[in-house]
Amino acid sequence: MDNRTVAGPSAGYPPDLLSFSFGQLSELLESLGEPSYRAEQIYPRMQRGIPPGKMGNIPAKLVAELEERAPYRLPEIARKLVSSVDGTVKYLLRLADGNLIETVLMRYRHGNTVCVSTQVGCRMGCAFCASTLGGRIRNMTAGEILGEVIAAGNDSGERVDNIVMMGIGEPLDNYEASTAFIRLVSDPRGGLCVGQRHISLSTCGVVDGIDRLAAEKFQITLSVSLHAHDDAVRDAVMPVNRRWNISELLAACRRYALATGRRISFEYTLINGKNCGEKDAAALAELLNRALRRGPMSRYPIHVNLIPLNSVRERDLRAPDRAQVDAFRQTLEKHGVRATVRRTLGPDINASCGQLRRAAGAGDTAGAENEKEKT
Ligand code: SAH
Repeated sequence: MDNRTVAGPSAGYPPDLLSFSFGQLSELLESLGEPSYRAEQIYPRMQRGIPPGKMGNIPAKLVAELEERAPYRLPEIARKLVSSVDGTVKYLLRLADGNLIETVLMRYRHGNTVCVSTQVGCRMGCAFCASTLGGRIRNMTAGEILGEVIAAGNDSGERVDNIVMMGIGEPLDNYEASTAFIRLVSDPRGGLCVGQRHISLSTCGVVDGIDRLAAEKFQITLSVSLHAHDDAVRDAVMPVNRRWNISELLAACRRYALATGRRISFEYTLINGKNCGEKDAAALAELLNRALRRGPMSRYPIHVNLIPLNSVRERDLRAPDRAQVDAFRQTLEKHGVRATVRRTLGPDINASCGQLRRAAGAGDTAGAENEKEKT
């Protein structure tokens, strides 16, 4: 097999058909001597979950050639949990190589939102998060991330209106595939056509990635997981802070907002006894106002999503009580920072990141890249 023809997906992984952009697919098909309409036949339908062999009008020889050069692989649903409380569906998906990841379908009044994973595991090491416990096994390809959206959409039989890149993994630690995914899923020639304004990418604060992303001029929403207003606390709960501290992170947020004209939303997980006193709320508001609301951004709307901690079995951290959560929110509002408390969806099905995959026995340290890197 010659792999000169197309760049395909992430370096180091065999090309999977779902990772191909329209242009890359056209190039591949052209190199196989196919007529130019072929890409238009295949591209939108493969993104709707139809394998080339089942499209009906693709010659068998071409189906075989595609299978050899860039196989079409959708993830399999290994387990599916449906919340009896709110209809949230959590999928444990098996990738072609057997690795397991999680995808969540949430039903809101404003439509269906799919939460996708971007890596098998995570190497960011946040103290409260289940996804990182076993380290990062590998990056996912753009096509594998797209496969999550296809699987959730097809299984539910409903349109996917919104996407949040908030599942397992750090999207900016898998930059190429995450941004390729955004282009694929929002491509008007494709089969999913989720507008970029309906896509959020969440990062723990990978500053060089935020700057790269700003240059893409996407219309997506950037979510930044802040979780602390001072470096001592953030260093302790989010190791990424030792690489890029809070002031460097907020400076990058400012550059991002100025370059894209888009709002950023901040995520703030409330951890009992660590970051959720009223003093913390006042300090957080002061920090955000000072760092962001200056010069051309003096009227910039700042929004904080408050997430009461979802306790992870392996970690001895708890959420504050409801009264403290409300007081925190009110203090932020008093200081001009809009805040909403995230509803916990699917409380009966372990819907937050990483927990189902761990329960299935995946995500043990054996084979994790960051464990290997240390040796
Ligand atoms: N790596 C990205 C996206 C994945 S996590 C990021 O860090 O933003 C999505 C959000 O859930 C992040 O804000 C993360 O900090 C938060 N989170 C992770 N574990 C949590 C837990 N146990 N309880 C509450 N929020 C959690």
